Amino acid sequence: MISAAAGDTRKDLIGLSREELAAEMAAIGAEPFRTRQLWHWLYHRGATDLAAMTTLAKSFRAELDRRYVVGRPAVARGQQSSDGTRKWLLRFGDGQEAECVHIPEDGRGTLCVSSQVGCTLNCRFCHTGTQLLVRNLDAGEIVGQIMLARDQLSEWPSPQDDRQLTNIVLMGMGEPLYNYDNVAKAIKIAMDGEGLSVSKRKITLSTAGVVPMIRRCGKELGVNLAISLHATNDPLRDELVPLNKKYPLAELLQACREYPGAHNARRITFEYVMLNGINDTPAEARALVALLAGIPAKVNLIPFNPWPGAPYECSSDVAIQKFSDVIFEAGYSALVRTPRGRDILAACGQLKSDSVKKRARERTAEAAAS
Ligand code: SAH
Repeated sequence: MISAAAGDTRKDLIGLSREELAAEMAAIGAEPFRTRQLWHWLYHRGATDLAAMTTLAKSFRAELDRRYVVGRPAVARGQQSSDGTRKWLLRFGDGQEAECVHIPEDGRGTLCVSSQVGCTLNCRFCHTGTQLLVRNLDAGEIVGQIMLARDQLSEWPSPQDDRQLTNIVLMGMGEPLYNYDNVAKAIKIAMDGEGLSVSKRKITLSTAGVVPMIRRCGKELGVNLAISLHATNDPLRDELVPLNKKYPLAELLQACREYPGAHNARRITFEYVMLNGINDTPAEARALVALLAGIPAKVNLIPFNPWPGAPYECSSDVAIQKFSDVIFEAGYSALVRTPRGRDILAACGQLKSDSVKKRARERTAEAAAS
């Protein structure tokens, strides 16, 4: 992560894999068990101050401090919805911003993590897709979102029970499978049992359907999979999720059929945004059921969340209910995802960091002043 103060050339420890951390320690002549101790401080205790790592010798702490920092994304703005959902606009070392959302529920809570600043996919109903600037987040910036949420929720050391952060969904800004290496590295850090210790069963990665990477994700990470389906035929899906032109429905569903670890107790989630008059008839619900044949699946219906200038509106409650009934009667769970945090634009598809716009405005103001 590039989060140290300007001019600080020290390396960030957050985001290094265990192997990389071991290599760093070996390079400065530290004994192998130091890696484990340091890892414990960083990811179990959540320490950000190298000088406070009291199980390490003082001279070693000083040596670490000369070479390294423990980075966190900065909170440019924090907002809380009337329903308890919290959204943090995070600023990274180069000034770029991305959003991260915590959704509390009874006895648990989900953190929605971003994988990119902006997104290249341009799904027509998604706010993030309207953002021009895109860059990948690095592994430290991705796992840093989880760590920052733990800071904010006072959940260090990594608690056993009674957590407000139990589940992680890669459903924030960006397409995680277009930033696979960084996402995989961050997830592996999050899953490490001696650190953040989040079980793969509690992690869900959502993709618009980058087929070749779905296979790798299943093999290498084994996390839960969610697919942003949204349409049941190629012409409509080409329009709503343009990535479909590259990886059409048949290929996508085949990759789902082959997803390792998917079975009845661990189903693949199919997300389906409810767009009034576009994809919300009972006939389409039946077509959806037909597509899911042979896949251990559940369906999440997402009422469309509006954003300024969006070209769609949300289906009526009646249409959503009818759609859900058809799927349910065919034997699938068809949960209607309750919109959370809509009042602070924190709901699905509403995330967008406006650093680009702001800069353009600032530039205009500067030009006017000169
Ligand atoms: N790129 C990944 C991660 C984004 S996840 C993916 O496409 O899966 C966010 C989820 O919210 C996706 O299912 C996305 O299609 C959906 N979504 C986007 N905009 C939305 C909106 N305005 N209303 C409801 N859901 C939306």
